[in-house]
Amino acid sequence: MIRCNVPITEITPGSRECRAACTSALANLRPGEPISREVAVQLIRCPEEDLPTLLAAARDARAAKKRFKPGIITYSRKVFLPLTNLCRDYCGYCIFRRDPGDPGAHTMTPEEVLSVARAGEKLGCTEALFSLGDKPELLFPEMRETLSHLGYKSTLHYLEAMCELVLRETGLLSAEWIARLAAVSPSMGLMLETTNSALLAPGAAHDNAPDKVPAKRLRTIADAGKQNVPFTTGLLIGIGESLEDRVDTLLAIRDMNDRYGHIQEVIVQNFRVKPAIPMARCPEPTRGEMLRAVAVARLLLPNVNIQAPPNLSAPYYDDLADAGINDWGGISPLTPDFINPEKPWPHLEQLRLRTEAKGFALRQRLPVYPEFLPAVTAKPGLLSEKLRAAADDDGLAKTNEGGMLERA
Ligand code: SF4
Repeated sequence: MIRCNVPITEITPGSRECRAACTSALANLRPGEPISREVAVQLIRCPEEDLPTLLAAARDARAAKKRFKPGIITYSRKVFLPLTNLCRDYCGYCIFRRDPGDPGAHTMTPEEVLSVARAGEKLGCTEALFSLGDKPELLFPEMRETLSHLGYKSTLHYLEAMCELVLRETGLLSAEWIARLAAVSPSMGLMLETTNSALLAPGAAHDNAPDKVPAKRLRTIADAGKQNVPFTTGLLIGIGESLEDRVDTLLAIRDMNDRYGHIQEVIVQNFRVKPAIPMARCPEPTRGEMLRAVAVARLLLPNVNIQAPPNLSAPYYDDLADAGINDWGGISPLTPDFINPEKPWPHLEQLRLRTEAKGFALRQRLPVYPEFLPAVTAKPGLLSEKLRAAADDDGLAKTNEGGMLERA
């Protein structure tokens, strides 16, 4: 059982000084101008009565940037491919991972990958998102045997080959792995989750999760930046971190983006409790925490796409549109959310209606956001050809009137 020993701060109106600081921070915001750590910490602690002002400021920040298409919230129509659920890490909130021999432990064959990708293509998906455990072959001889049987040295080599296979054989584009995949895959993602390395301590969420060392993950994000690979990252809220940690994680991402300009999207993801996980007794972040985190992310990163998964904030997910997001992330008409299987995606029609009720049109995007498309399509090759064929004049996904992808 994981200790939730770092207090998940209850967001209630604090001291008079705290409220005054928040009110003054809100009064001094300038739409579109990034804010300091001190201001972000004051805002993420804002009392309930100031929340509407904070959300309005986040919306103003979104509206101030021309790079976000006005009146549009995007999503990516994806198939999720759980390439392997074997993992050498044991994160306290994870229900996806398995040890070899556990019920449901599975590594997909190339035939299975292709069959799901083709089914997704028929449903108008434009992206294949591979989810997989971290380096299982380092811990499990069974995985080494599976890989050798398939003809690969490591899980990442297998992933690379499956990205290529899907790219070659279908209209889907995959968004995985870095240097060697840069020629094959249009973007790459790795959740930073948190910069708080105290969560690696015994009994905390990242106890026995060697791949969750924040410095290592920041190095990977920096490597992507040096190679100019459009990068998706984000923070996980509610895993035992403090409000200040949330701000510091966003600042670390901002720092990466200031240096390399490659962060195409930041996901603000909330922990959801599940009965069978070590964190089964930990509290989930509240709606208010989620809204504050999204709004502060928007204010800290005014130029970056901010995404929050709607299925993890049901039933109030449309409120996230009020907090400054401009993307709902990957939604699959075919495959479940393997990481949060108890939280089904909203039906796309429902998502459209609720997005429109908030005053936005819902548009399907590609795995690469429009502003990163020219750099990726400038490189010759199959990836570039497929992306150009899939993009419309706005750099979003080419769809027919019913919202389905037009086959190029
Ligand atoms: S969250 Fe990822 S790294 Fe952690 S245990 Fe689950 S699959 Fe492994």
